[in-house]
Amino acid sequence: MKFMNIASGSSGNVSLVMTDEAAVLLDCGISLKKIEEGLRAADISGKDIDAVVITHEHSDHIKGLGVLSRKYKVPIYTTAGTIKGINECRSVGIIDKSLYNVIGSDVAFQIKDMTITPRSIWHDAYEPVCYSFTDGRKKISVATDLGNYNDYLVKCLSDSDILLIEANHDIRMLEAGPYPYHLKRRILSERGHLSNEASGRFIRQLLNDHLKTIILGHLSKENNFPELAYEAVKQELMGNQYSKDARDFDLHTAFRDRNDDLYEI
Ligand SMILES: [Zn+2]
Ligand SMILES: [Zn+2]
Repeated sequence: MKFMNIASGSSGNVSLVMTDEAAVLLDCGISLKKIEEGLRAADISGKDIDAVVITHEHSDHIKGLGVLSRKYKVPIYTTAGTIKGINECRSVGIIDKSLYNVIGSDVAFQIKDMTITPRSIWHDAYEPVCYSFTDGRKKISVATDLGNYNDYLVKCLSDSDILLIEANHDIRMLEAGPYPYHLKRRILSERGHLSNEASGRFIRQLLNDHLKTIILGHLSKENNFPELAYEAVKQELMGNQYSKDARDFDLHTAFRDRNDDLYEI
C-alpha cells in the first residue's frame, strides 16, 4: 500500500491512499489545483481516483469537494449526517447526488481491492468518522478532528502499519493565545481536538511491533509548532513496551500546505 499526506491542518486536509488496484482520496479540504499537484507527486492524476471518502463537513475537509466531483465525477463515500452538513455548506456548490454513497460507522466497504472501515469519533459535526484502510495485508489509519477517544477506538485503530493522528494544539499556547473564550472551550472539549499530550497518550496505546510510520497531523497554526508537537508526543512514547527510545519510530509532523513523502509499505 501507499500513503501520502497532501495537506494537513486547519487550512485544509487531504490524504491519498493506494493499493495495487485502488486510489482513494481521504477528505478534500484544499483547492483542486493543489490536490492535482499532490497527485502528480504520486505519479497519478485525478482520473485515477476511484473514490473520495469524507470524515465530516467542516470546510477544511470539503473545500475542494464540489470542484473535484464536478470535474472528475468521483464517487463520494460518507455518512448521512455529513452529507446533510455538506448540503448546508453553500461554498461547495452543486454536487451530483448520484455520486453519494452513504456509509455507517463500523460497517466496512470495498473500493476494488481496498477495504475501508469508518469509525465514529467525538467532534462537533453531524456524524463524523475516522477511517482505516487495508488491502488484507497492511493497514493504514487516519484519525484527526477528535476531542476524545476510548478503548474501542484504540482497539479499532491498533494493528496499523501507518498512522496519521491529530496533534492539534499545545494546551498552554491555546490558553494564553488570542482565541475567544468560547472557541478555546470548544477546542478543549470532548468534541474538539486532541492536544499534543493527548495525542501522545493515544498513539502510545496504538503502538505495535510492525508500526512503521507515525505522522502527526492537523496541527493548529495559531496554537502549536511542529517541534512542540513532536517533542510532546516523543515524551509520551518514551519507555513503551516496544522500544525504550521513541526515536526508534519514524515519527514526524505532516506539512501544512504541501505534500509529504509517498510512504510505501
Ligand atoms: Zn479539521
Ligand atoms: Zn473538524
